[in-house]
Amino acid sequence: MLRRRPLPALAAAAAFTLAGGLAASALLGLAVAQLEFDKIGLSFQQRASLRAAALRRGLDEAVEVLTVTNQLFATVQPVTRAQFHDFTAPLLARHRFIQAFNFHRLVSDAERAGFEAGMQRLRPGSVITEMKDGAIRRAPARSSYSVVDFLEPMAGNEAAFGLDVAGNAMLMATVGRAVERDGAAATGLLSLAQDARPDSAFEIVLPVYRAGAPLASSAQRRAALVGDSAVIVRAAALVEQILRAADLAADPGLVLAVYASERADPARLVYGSAAPPEARTALAGLRRVLALEAGERYAHTLRVAGQPWHVTLHGAPRALLADHLGSLSTLAGALLFTLLMTAFVHTYARRARRVELLVEERTRDLKRSNQRLIDDVSARRRTEQALQESEQRFRQLVALSSDWYWEQDRHYRFVDITGGIGAKGGVAAERYLGKTRWETVEGMAGSAWGEAHIAAVLAHQGFSNLEYATVSETGETRWFSINGEPVFDAAGAFRGYRGTGTDITARKLAEQRIHHVAQHDVLTGLPNRSLLQDRLGQALAHALRSAQPVWVMLVDLDRFKFVNDSMGHKAGDVLLVTVAARLRAALRESDTVARLSGDEFVVILSEHPEQRLAVDVVQRLMDAVAQPVLLGGKEFFVTCSVGVAVFPTDGAPAESLIEHADIAMYRAKKLGRNNFQFYTPAMNEEAQERVRIEGALRKALERNEFVLHYQPQVELASGRIVGMEALLRWQHPELGMVAPNRFIGVAEETGLIVPIGAWVMRSACAQNRAWQDAGLAPLKVAVNLSARQFGAPGLIDDVQAVLADTGLAASLLEIELTESLFMSDVGQAVELLHGLKALGVGLSIDDFGTGYSSLSYLSHFPIDVLKIDRSFVADIQRDANDAAIVASIIALAHNLKLAVIAEGVETAEQLAYLRRHGCDQMQGYYFSRPLPAAEFARLLERQACLADMPA
Ligand code: C2E
Ligand code: CA
Ligand code: CA
Repeated sequence: MLRRRPLPALAAAAAFTLAGGLAASALLGLAVAQLEFDKIGLSFQQRASLRAAALRRGLDEAVEVLTVTNQLFATVQPVTRAQFHDFTAPLLARHRFIQAFNFHRLVSDAERAGFEAGMQRLRPGSVITEMKDGAIRRAPARSSYSVVDFLEPMAGNEAAFGLDVAGNAMLMATVGRAVERDGAAATGLLSLAQDARPDSAFEIVLPVYRAGAPLASSAQRRAALVGDSAVIVRAAALVEQILRAADLAADPGLVLAVYASERADPARLVYGSAAPPEARTALAGLRRVLALEAGERYAHTLRVAGQPWHVTLHGAPRALLADHLGSLSTLAGALLFTLLMTAFVHTYARRARRVELLVEERTRDLKRSNQRLIDDVSARRRTEQALQESEQRFRQLVALSSDWYWEQDRHYRFVDITGGIGAKGGVAAERYLGKTRWETVEGMAGSAWGEAHIAAVLAHQGFSNLEYATVSETGETRWFSINGEPVFDAAGAFRGYRGTGTDITARKLAEQRIHHVAQHDVLTGLPNRSLLQDRLGQALAHALRSAQPVWVMLVDLDRFKFVNDSMGHKAGDVLLVTVAARLRAALRESDTVARLSGDEFVVILSEHPEQRLAVDVVQRLMDAVAQPVLLGGKEFFVTCSVGVAVFPTDGAPAESLIEHADIAMYRAKKLGRNNFQFYTPAMNEEAQERVRIEGALRKALERNEFVLHYQPQVELASGRIVGMEALLRWQHPELGMVAPNRFIGVAEETGLIVPIGAWVMRSACAQNRAWQDAGLAPLKVAVNLSARQFGAPGLIDDVQAVLADTGLAASLLEIELTESLFMSDVGQAVELLHGLKALGVGLSIDDFGTGYSSLSYLSHFPIDVLKIDRSFVADIQRDANDAAIVASIIALAHNLKLAVIAEGVETAEQLAYLRRHGCDQMQGYYFSRPLPAAEFARLLERQACLADMPA
C-alpha cells in the first residue's frame, strides 16, 4: 500500500504507527488485566464452592454416622451398653469432632429408683441429674425424664451421664421435630455439661421407637417413642476436620466463616472470623479506584437435619504486582515497542519504498521467466519418467510372465528375442536369430497347419495361439504357443512382425494325461466304454472299406461275484487285473480289449487277409482266462462265458453289436457257463421276451395274477394221497397262462422271486389249513424254495410267521430245496437248514440226481426226503443206466433213513419199477396233473386212490 502513496504520506505512516501502537497497547493491557480478573474470580468461586460442598458433605456425614448408630436400636432389641460401646468406638476414632454418642432413654418417675440403681452399678453414686444455671445437680421429681443412659466415650463426658435433658427446651423441641419428620434433626448451638465453653457444640438426634409399633403417622410415632440416639458434635472441630480432610484448610487467599444460623450472625459464629472491616486504608482505596481488587464474595446457606448453616468466604487482600504483573508488563512492553516501531518506520520507509519498487519489478520479470523454465523442465521430466516407467514395466512384465518377446524383420527373420526363451522354453534364442520360423521348426513347412500359417503371415495378418512342438536343447519335446502381429511404419510400409511366445508343454502333457484317464479304466488300464466306442467305430469303418469281418466278443467271468463276496474286493480287483492282462496277452496288438463294467470285457477282433478269424481265437481267450489264479494264497479257477457278434451280419446295425454279443453271452451262461455262443436272431427274440416278461412280472403280484396249483403226492404202499406240491401259475391278461419255466428264471435273476416266493409260501399254507378246517384229512404241502429266497435275510422268521399266521402245523409243511443252494456256502446252508428243521418243517431235496452233489454230504444235512428228478424216471424204460441210478438212489436214501419220492411218473410201468425198488411216494401225470385248488379238493373228497388208476 505504502509504495503507491506520494512521499508526504511517509510522515503520516509514522504517526499512524504511533497512534495505532498506543491504542493497541492500551487495549492489550486492559484485555490482559480483564483476563487476570476473570482468572482470579473464577479461581475464587471454585475454591469457595469447593469448601461449601465439603462442608455440606461433612455435615451430611455427621448425620449419616448418627443414622448408622440409630440403626443399632432399630435392629437389636434391647441394645446393651457393651454393644453400644463396640458399635460407637470405631466411629469415635474416625470422627474426632464427635464429642459423644449417647442414648436418651425416657424414664417415668416410677421407674426412677430402679433406673438409678442400675446406673450406680455402673458408676457408684450416679443419680439422675439436671443442668441448672450452668451447674449440675440432682434432678427434682418429675413425671418423666429423658436421661442420658448410654454414653460413649465415658471418659471426659462423665458429667453428662445420667443427665435429664427433659428440661432442655431446645433439645426437646429438636426431638419433637425428629419424630415429626421421622428423621434426623439437629439442635442449634448449645452449651455442654461436660464442656466449659458456651455454645460450642450441637446435637443431632434420631428417635428410637418401641420395636414392632406402627409408625405411619406422627401420633403413632410419638406413642412408640422410647428415647432417642444423639451425636454431640463439636462444631468448630467438625468444620476443621472437614476442611483438613478435604485438604482445604490452609488457603491464605481466603477468609472463611461458618455460622450455625440462617445468616452471618456473629453471635452464632462456629468457625473462622467475622467479615473483615470495610477498606479504610489509603492503599486499599487506591486499589478500589484502579479496580484492581475484585472484592470477591461468596455466601451460601445449607440445611442439615433441619438446621441452617451459613458459609461466607471472601478474598484476602493481595499484592497488586503479584496478581497483575502480566497486564502491567504487557502494557510497558507494548508502549516501548510502539515507540521503537514508529522511529523505525519513519527512518526506513523512504529508502525501502524505492528499493521495493525496483525489486518488485525485477521480481515480477524473474518470476515470469522462471515459471516458464519450470514448466519446460517439469514437462520434460514427466516425459522422461513416463518413458522409463513404461520401459521398466515392459521388462518387469516380460520377466514376470511366462511369455517371451520376439521381433522379426520384413523378411520374417528373427532379429530380437528377449524375455528368457532359454529359461522358459528350453531353446537358445541364437538358434532362431536370422532365420524364419518355418526354417527352425521341423515339419512346419509342408504340413497343412504350417502352410496355412505361412500364408497368413505373408499376407501380413496377425495370428494368435499358434501351437507347435519343437525339440529343446536337451532333446525333449516342448510345445510353444505363439501370438504375433505385423508392424507397419508411419508411412504404412510393412516392417516385420513382433509378438510373444509361451511354453505350454505342461498344459499339453496334462491334456494328454486327462485324455488318457478319460478314456481308460483306472483299475485295469484297458480302454473304457468311451474309447471302446471310438475303436469300434474305426474297426467297423475299416471293415466296410476292406470288406473283411469284425468280431465283437463279450467276455463275462463266471462266479466273479462269488470271488468278490468270499475273498473281498481286493482279491476281486487282483482277479480283474489278472484277467485283463491275460486277455491282452492272448490277442494281437491291433485288437482291442476294453473293460465294459464290473467283470465284463469287450474284445474287438478285425480280420486280416493273412489271418482269418476262427473259433479257436475264442477258445484261446477262454483258455487264457481259465488258468489258475493265486488269490490270498489259494488257487482259484475262474472260467468265463463268451458271446460273439459278427459284423457284418444281414441287416444288423453296427450299434447293436455289443448288445448282440451280450445276448449271446447270456445264452452261454444259461447253457452252464464256461462256453461261448455266437449270436443268432432267435436269441434276440428270447431276450426280448425276457424283457417283456420281466416288465410284466414286476406288476403281477400287485395285480393278483398268480395262482397256485396243487399236484397230489401218493403213498405207494396204501395208494392214498398223503400230500401235494404247490406249483405257481401266472395268469397274465395278454400272455395267457405263463409256464413257470418261462418266468421263474427271470424272477430269480431280478430278485422278484423273493416276494413272489413269500406269497406262494403263505398262500399254500393258508390253503392247506383251509382244507383241514373244511374237514378234510391233514395233508402235507410241499413248497418250492428258490436259491434267492434261501439266501435272503429273515427266511426262518418269515416261515415261522407264516405258520403262526395261518395256524398250519409245522409238520404239514415241506420245503423243497435244490442242490444248487448248497454250492456257494456250505457252512451257511447247513446252519439255515438246521434253523428251518428246528421249526419242525420237513425238508426235501428236489430234482435229486441232476446236481453235482455226491450223496455223501447228505448225511450231514437234516434232510427228510429225496425227490428223484423226473428225467431219470422218464428214462427208466429206455435207459438201463438211468433205471439203475433210480434203484441205487432209493437204496442209498433208505440207508440214510430218508424217504424217497419219484416225480414225473407218467406210466404204469414206471410206477411198477418204482414200487419194485421200494420207492415210498410218487407224483406225476399218471396219477394227476397239478390242479387248481377247487379241483384238488374234489379229488380229496372222492378219496381218489392209486388203485383206481387204469393199469
Ligand atoms: P419242479 O419243482 O421240479 O416241479 C415239478 C414240475 O414237474 C412241475 O412243472 C410239474 O407240473 C411237472 N410235472 C409233474 N408231473 C409231471 C409228469 O408226470 N410229467 C411231466 N412232464 N411233468 C410233470 P411246473 O409246474 O411247470 O414247474 C416247473 C418248475 O418251476 C418247478 O419244477 C419249479 O422248479 C418251478 N416252480 C414252480 N412253482 C414254483 C414256486 O412256487 N416257487 C419256486 N421257487 N419254483 C417254482
Ligand atoms: Ca418241486
Ligand atoms: Ca422237481
